[in-house]
Amino acid sequence: MTTRSNNVYCRGCEKQIHETAKSCPHCGAIYNVVGSKNRISAALLAFFLGGFGVHKFYLGKTGQGVLYLLFCWTFIPALIAFIEFIIYLCTSDENFARKYG
Ligand SMILES: [Zn+2]
Repeated sequence: MTTRSNNVYCRGCEKQIHETAKSCPHCGAIYNVVGSKNRISAALLAFFLGGFGVHKFYLGKTGQGVLYLLFCWTFIPALIAFIEFIIYLCTSDENFARKYG
C-alpha cells in the first residue's frame, strides 16, 4: 500500500469515495461518465484518422479536433496522433478513464 490517496470527492454529497467507484455509496450518485470512452477505439481512431483529429472529437476535445483538422495538410497532426496512439496504448484503462472519461 502506498500513502497516495485514491479517493476523490463525490460531486453529489462531497464525501470521499474511491476514484474508480461507479456510484457513490453515501448518496447514490452514479458516475456513468467514468470509462465511457473506449481506450482502444480512441487509439485506433488516432492511428487511422488521427491526422484529421477524429480521436479528439471522439474524446470530446472538439477544440483540439478542429485544430488537427485545420492543420491536417501539414501532416503534423498525423505525427502527433501517431504519438498519441502509442500513449493511449500504454495508458492503463483506469488512467485513461480518469483523463478522458
Ligand atoms: Zn455522494
